[in-house]
This record gives sequence, C-alpha cells and structure tokens, in this order.
Amino acid sequence: MAAFFYYSMFGYLATKAVIELINEARWRLFPRKVSRDEIKFLENHFKYYSRLKPQHKKEFIDKLEMILSTKRLIARGGLEEITWEMEILVGATIAMVTFGWKRLKLAHFHTILIYPNPYFSTINKIYHRGEVNPKHGLIILSWQSFVEGYADFEDGINLGIHEIAHALKLANQIDTDGEREFDPKSFAEYKKWVPIEMEKVKAGEETIFRERAAFNEHEFFAVIIETFFEKSQEFKTYNPEFYQTVVHLLRQDPLTLQKPIQ
Ligand SMILES: [Zn+2]
Repeated sequence: MAAFFYYSMFGYLATKAVIELINEARWRLFPRKVSRDEIKFLENHFKYYSRLKPQHKKEFIDKLEMILSTKRLIARGGLEEITWEMEILVGATIAMVTFGWKRLKLAHFHTILIYPNPYFSTINKIYHRGEVNPKHGLIILSWQSFVEGYADFEDGINLGIHEIAHALKLANQIDTDGEREFDPKSFAEYKKWVPIEMEKVKAGEETIFRERAAFNEHEFFAVIIETFFEKSQEFKTYNPEFYQTVVHLLRQDPLTLQKPIQ
C-alpha cells in the first residue's frame, strides 16, 4: 500500500513536472527559428543589432527566438497580414529593451496587436499610436508609427521602445508572471532621479529628454528608455550618474555592448 502510494504520488509529481516543463519550455520544443535572411535583414535595418559586438550577436538571436516563440502577433484594423519583417522588428525591440536579462521575455504580455495606422480608441476617444493593456496582456502598435520610430534611430523618438518600456515597468509590478524584473535597489536609485529630471523638462531647462517625459512618471520612464537606446552617448554626456543608474536598472550598457561607431 505504502509502495503503491509512493509510486502513484511519484507518477503525479512527474506528470505535473512534465506539464510545467512543456509550458515553460514550449519555445524549446516548437521554436521559431530566425533564418539567415532575417539575420541579414536585422544587420541592415536594426542598428542596435548591427552594432553589437560579435559575441553578443549570438545571444541576441537566441533571445529573439525565445521571444518570437512565445508571442502572438495579430493584424488588426484592416492590416492584411503580419509579415516576417514585422515579427522580426517587433521581437527585436523586445529583445533589445530586455537584453540585460537572459530569460526575461515579458511573459505577461503574450499578444501584440498591430494596426496599419494610428487607430481610434473607442475608450479614450482619441487617435493612438500605441498602448499597453496589462489587463488583457496586450501590446498594441500602429505599424506606421513603429516604422517611423526606426526611420531615425538617433532622434530619441521610438514608439516601439516606448511601448515596450511601458510593458516592462508594468511587468515589474506583476508578481504572477514568474519573472523578476528590476532589482529593488536599482529601481530605488532610479526613482531618486525622476523628480529632479522631470522638473527640468517641465521648467523648459536644458535637457535631452523630450517634453512627453513631463506628463507623468510612466511617460517619463518610457522617454528615458527611448533616449537610453537612441541617444546613449548624449545621455551619458548629459548626466553620467543618471545614465549609470539606467545601466544598472536595465542591466546593460549599449555603449559597451556595441562596437565603437566609426
Ligand atoms: Zn506612453
């Protein structure tokens, strides 16, 4: 009897473990592989990737495959289809913002809806370029605005980075996603800078952060992260201490990950 109980209990636990393994490592069993052509496309159209040192490029592709294997991209608002270019660029944006964490994939945000143009929100009665919906685990993007963000990777305006930054900050507050985002100490350090730098934007003082940063602490964060990736060197020159704080928070420094720009 005891032996029977032991074996059935063992069987139950083994089954449960297997189910968890399948759920957690689904991407390992059914991975979305990134092809050679897609890597070439990244080299030509995704500056963060093309500037990475060779040893980090492999890590980036691994991370991108993990992300693409666990997210659903859905066309909305008359957009005909999700192309592989869309998959690669949206996935690469998530991989870039979360590159400091080997396993982090913003699991809570499982679905990305893509509209062709800025879309009319029936909730807010305004046109949106993008938004994040934590209740339903959605990231919503207008493809036109997304592409415009990458047309100039040095102007500090990038819708994709902006929305993924919102998702990351929200994910940090969600404990049920099985993921650990910000180190509490680094986040506390970051928070000290928020009122100081936000005040400068509000007062129209000299700053490299765009006006949107003054709106509230969420917008501030999203703008800081856009600036961090698109104007890394300028950000560092402007306020090295704050820059270093964001390096700790995101666990990466784009300036050391990348080859020096010739
Ligand atoms: Zn925003």
